[in-house]
Amino acid sequence: MNLLIENAKQIITCHTRGRRFKAGKYQSEISLIENESIFVENGRIKWIGKKLPSYVKKSNPKKINAKNKTVLPGFVDSHTHLVFAGDRDNEFSMRIKGKTYEEIAKAGGGIISTVKATKKASKAELKKLAKHRINSSIGFGVTTIEAKSGYGLDTKNEIKMLEVIYELNKETPIDVYATFLGAHAFPKHKSKKEYIDEILYDMIPQIAKRNLATFIDTFCEKNYFSVDDTRKIFMQGINFGLVPKLHTNQFYSIGGIETAAEFDAISVDHLEVMNGKDINALKGTNTIACLLPSVSYFLDISYAPARKLIDAGIPVALATDFNPGSAMSENIQLVMSLAVQMLRMNIEETINAVTINGAASLGISHNVGSIEVGKQADLLIFDVPDYKHILYHFGVNHLKTVIKKGKIIM
Ligand SMILES: [Zn+2]
Repeated sequence: MNLLIENAKQIITCHTRGRRFKAGKYQSEISLIENESIFVENGRIKWIGKKLPSYVKKSNPKKINAKNKTVLPGFVDSHTHLVFAGDRDNEFSMRIKGKTYEEIAKAGGGIISTVKATKKASKAELKKLAKHRINSSIGFGVTTIEAKSGYGLDTKNEIKMLEVIYELNKETPIDVYATFLGAHAFPKHKSKKEYIDEILYDMIPQIAKRNLATFIDTFCEKNYFSVDDTRKIFMQGINFGLVPKLHTNQFYSIGGIETAAEFDAISVDHLEVMNGKDINALKGTNTIACLLPSVSYFLDISYAPARKLIDAGIPVALATDFNPGSAMSENIQLVMSLAVQMLRMNIEETINAVTINGAASLGISHNVGSIEVGKQADLLIFDVPDYKHILYHFGVNHLKTVIKKGKIIM
């Protein structure tokens, strides 16, 4: 089926000009065009312009009138933990009464409580819950999403989670990328060494053999996985063809950034706590800084130093980190609002952070993340006459239409 989006008031193309991501002053460049149309053929953008070529008219496309509306590339949520069972509403209630994330974890709450519920749940149950959440993400404009394992913490249940993610990619209208995060927490009743050996010699080979994940990640943090643990896991992951990504610098700076840079990680995620050395270690690398301001909002911890990162020429992406403990929200537009208000990012930097830079942090910016001829037609139509209204008229979802691979999915 062909599709013609006619006469958009604005099209925010986020054109890359051949770059893999946007950094420094280019992160503000959104390449706005006005009063133009987009023609989509076989799921790809075939033409963008004012005067329709005759082949477009002849192809008799389905038409969408975008007069007074704004078109953006589909959003890429490049960091989520959307497969899980159970909830942590009681823990939330405890926390807002003053208990810290670490105190709750030490008292047996935190990740481990989600692990319990996820282990118990069948694949079908997990998938049903996750599909519901993906639908919610689509409603906010997400057309590509990443999802991590990490609530299984044994070979059988980590693989169960990754199988769910694999099937979500086939059974939902959007693309779902899998990250193996066995190193999310340590299970009870196993020594640290035993568990890391299980990750290295049991999980990684099986997951890689069955192509169940693209990325490998660890929670590199004090009391969780050290720099040495991360290094071992990355080395083995890379041996088996997985691409490193890293949870780091959420609570402490323990050398995760340097380790990620050493292994050419595709992204470093969180970065709420960054010193000058950490920023220097990222400068000039190909690693995307993926910031998760919903976590800072929800846990009431410091926000990542987005301005310092952007001003140092480091490409910044934004994602939800959707998970039941520290960011129970699929709303990527809320993330954008927080980026503008709390991270002091400008509107244009924020848009690039959830489109082209989000795509770069999944290694797919050659295919999605901008509106360019030849790219996959993942497009959003907002009922606003100017893109600034998406963030200016805040707390309201102005999204009217979501298009994935040329098909209207919402
Ligand atoms: Zn996370």
